[in-house]
Amino acid sequence: MDVLGDAALVADAKTKKLYVPVESPLSVTQPLEESFAEISLPQALGLTGTHLLSPYHHTGKGAKTVLAFATALVGTVAAAVLQEPVGRVGRPSLSLPLLELDIVAEVICTLIALCTLLVVLLAEVEGEKAGRHFLMIEEEPLCVPCASPVSFELHSSTKAQEVQAWAAMEPGAPLVPHSFELAGKPPPGHVDIAVRFCGICGSDVHQIEDAWGVASFPLVAGHEIVGEVVAVGDGVTRFAQGDVAAIGVQRSCCGSCVHCDAGDENVCPAITKTYAGPNKDRGGFATMIRYPAGWVFAVPAGLAPESVGPLMCAGITTYSPLKRHATRGDRVGIVGIGGLGHLALQFGRAMGLEVYALSRTADKEAEARGFGASGFVNTEDATQLAALAGSFDVILLTASGRAPLDPYLALLKPRGKLVCVSLPDKEERSQLYLHSAVIFERALVGSYLGPHADYAEMLEMARDHGVRPQVELAPLSQINAMLERVRAGKARYRVVLQM
Ligand SMILES: [Zn+2]
Ligand SMILES: [Zn+2]
Repeated sequence: MDVLGDAALVADAKTKKLYVPVESPLSVTQPLEESFAEISLPQALGLTGTHLLSPYHHTGKGAKTVLAFATALVGTVAAAVLQEPVGRVGRPSLSLPLLELDIVAEVICTLIALCTLLVVLLAEVEGEKAGRHFLMIEEEPLCVPCASPVSFELHSSTKAQEVQAWAAMEPGAPLVPHSFELAGKPPPGHVDIAVRFCGICGSDVHQIEDAWGVASFPLVAGHEIVGEVVAVGDGVTRFAQGDVAAIGVQRSCCGSCVHCDAGDENVCPAITKTYAGPNKDRGGFATMIRYPAGWVFAVPAGLAPESVGPLMCAGITTYSPLKRHATRGDRVGIVGIGGLGHLALQFGRAMGLEVYALSRTADKEAEARGFGASGFVNTEDATQLAALAGSFDVILLTASGRAPLDPYLALLKPRGKLVCVSLPDKEERSQLYLHSAVIFERALVGSYLGPHADYAEMLEMARDHGVRPQVELAPLSQINAMLERVRAGKARYRVVLQM
């Protein structure tokens, strides 16, 4: 009598489990795959087959040790239980069984289930990070009484993983180490990402200083995030453990308003951002972030991970308006050659635009031309500005702070567009002499981040055209010095923190 039956001796593609015949009784072997350990039932008893305990997510070393221990325990207990039946049952080929093998098998099933619980408990004691060691056992019916598959998932609902972050405890304060906990597994539709790199954006500085009046403290900033997916919640199909993924400024949208329906999720009235906001979410200056999978983006192979973070904010913020407002061959001025501007020049060139760098820092000319600028204008020089009056189709204003608008409007052709993407402090008011706009029907438009569909396009363009943020890489521990560098406008061109 073969309890498992022939069908059970092969890989079951549906359940992704493997049942293999084994030679030696009670053998506990190395994991079949990284995340499987197997328990061999004693063939001598006529029970041929393998029971699998499968950690649902890959386990750490400690959990594997526990698993091996548990499998050994199962084998030992099973042997003890079966010792008596052996004498009475005998091999299938021998005389009459006194104890139905089905019942024996059921006992083994139960023991395995109990051992799984033991594994989980011990793994908890082991103290590994939650979400990495919860276990799932999905046993195919080993015995007739267990005709309906036993399937249960065990994970720590109480155990939380500790996240190490840097936070501002009050507006403008230097960041300090700050830890918090993420409970259990990511909720449905969410993923946990171990942060590897996070860029520092001017917005982070504004938020830490509460310059927009919307921050909440303790504030863990950071929204140019690249990392590795370490856990996925139910219903997430786009990501698996180990994927390299990136996060930008947008955390969510309502998904049902007219703007979301039109694919303009970046202007959804219910938009939430990476951090702060109504839920006091935390950003990427941390070892881990939990995020809605819908706003996590796969990083195409071929992009260096340390350069992807700035693309997720500075990149999309410049890519989307150039795509939307400029057409191939247009002359486009990029005002402010910094974190955003140096990417705008590269994206503009990749889109076939004639891009000019407009900067008050004359010594950036060589680098600006390296990024793709075919002209350089010193904005402190009125003569240079006058020479180009009325010649631009689009001007993208990336300069932070209080930028004068009239001089840039004057550079536009009739019906040209001045596109503003930076957000000054709440006290700073731009002044506009409306004649600059009215007389030649010029437009002043805002642009904020980009629609969802633009992110993948933007990353692909970056890969295909070699658009690459120029970054200063620094360890997370230097975060305060690096924030100061960004605040002082000294970064060339983007600071990226390495966790
Ligand atoms: Zn940003
Ligand atoms: Zn919406």
